[in-house]
Amino acid sequence: MTAPVILPGATLGVMGGGQLGRMFVHAAQRMGYFTAVLDPDPASPAGLVSHYHVQTDYLDQQGLAQLMQRCAAITTEFENVPAPALVTLGAHRPVAPAADAVAIAQDRAQEKAHFTRCGVACAPYGVIETAEQLRSTPDELLPGVLKTARLGYDGKGQVRVKTREELAVAWDELRNVPCVLEKLLPLAAECSVIVARGRDGQVVNLPPQLNLHRDGILAVTEVHEAALPAAQARRLVEATRAIAEGLGYVGVLCVEFFVLADGSLVVNEMAPRPHNSGHYSMDACDVSQFELQVRALAGLPLVQPRQHSGAVMLNLLGDLWFAAGDAERTPPWGDVLALPGAHLHLYGKLSARKGRKMGHLTITGPDVPAVRATALKAAALLGIQAF
Ligand code: ADP
Ligand code: MG
Repeated sequence: MTAPVILPGATLGVMGGGQLGRMFVHAAQRMGYFTAVLDPDPASPAGLVSHYHVQTDYLDQQGLAQLMQRCAAITTEFENVPAPALVTLGAHRPVAPAADAVAIAQDRAQEKAHFTRCGVACAPYGVIETAEQLRSTPDELLPGVLKTARLGYDGKGQVRVKTREELAVAWDELRNVPCVLEKLLPLAAECSVIVARGRDGQVVNLPPQLNLHRDGILAVTEVHEAALPAAQARRLVEATRAIAEGLGYVGVLCVEFFVLADGSLVVNEMAPRPHNSGHYSMDACDVSQFELQVRALAGLPLVQPRQHSGAVMLNLLGDLWFAAGDAERTPPWGDVLALPGAHLHLYGKLSARKGRKMGHLTITGPDVPAVRATALKAAALLGIQAF
């Protein structure tokens, strides 16, 4: 049975009230939808801008019932929304992405098994769930990165280990929860690809992103013709499409990749939602990742986005509010906004903390040298290290 197309005027819901939910809400509202957010935090970035805000826990049956009553369809912005909540919602309303796809993305072991099934290579790895598996871990995986199978993000829940002794200590530090140990690879670069897949199986993609991480957190994304070789970009898109199709996915999916020194590609992880590395699409493409999320959820046609400007995105972490020392300051927005092609996005978070994602700045421009030069000026003004 195919669900009907949900047209503007209806209410779309989102599980999670963070910045990704906020930008989804903005995109939906621009197209004439009403919106509802479920997030326990009364000051959540998406809750603050949505028509309706259900302030309960993700598994609260009453909260889920209220959300369903309001909404014609529901999506998620937060990959750790408990899959059972999506199962409950999915029994009564169209939910995209579906609970089973989200459940795979929530578990690194299942995620890697899926990549392998789709014929996309990932880093050599082993699953560590028991002391026996710890003992029988092959030496070839060292030095490696021990990652909790669930709930890791922004480099949290992972430890780099060189020896078997360090591995054992690290697993204890991670409280012996199920983990994967991945071989530490020499990375030449990191990239990501965002695709949207419709109910009818149509897939469209944003151009692949080149990403720079610092301290495990995305710092800079570049998307322009000098960022990645065209053949590599094609292979990245093909692999991402295969991963989305293998899941029968509906919605926006981001897949992160490593590029090794010899140019080979290794898939890292996926996020069943729009992604930080796709924020540039709001200012540099004719269809943003959030509009794609709205279209896929509503069952509207997907169109292949066209990038009209080269872009560099700088993540604005809470550190910038403390860049001049320990006293909190307001970053010099006036100076930054004097730069041509600077697009400021702040998420309405009430307090800055180091490492907290407060907003992002996208720089667009007529050509790659101009975009990069302006982005470097913006970085210097903000106290972000050059790239
Ligand atoms: P998160 O969920 O925190 O984003 P990732 O698995 O993407 O976790 O790891 C965060 C970052 O750590 C990656 O973007 C990459 O820079 C580095 N990293 C992770 N795994 C490896 C690996 N196997 N080899 C080399 N670097 C890695
Ligand atoms: Mg990652």
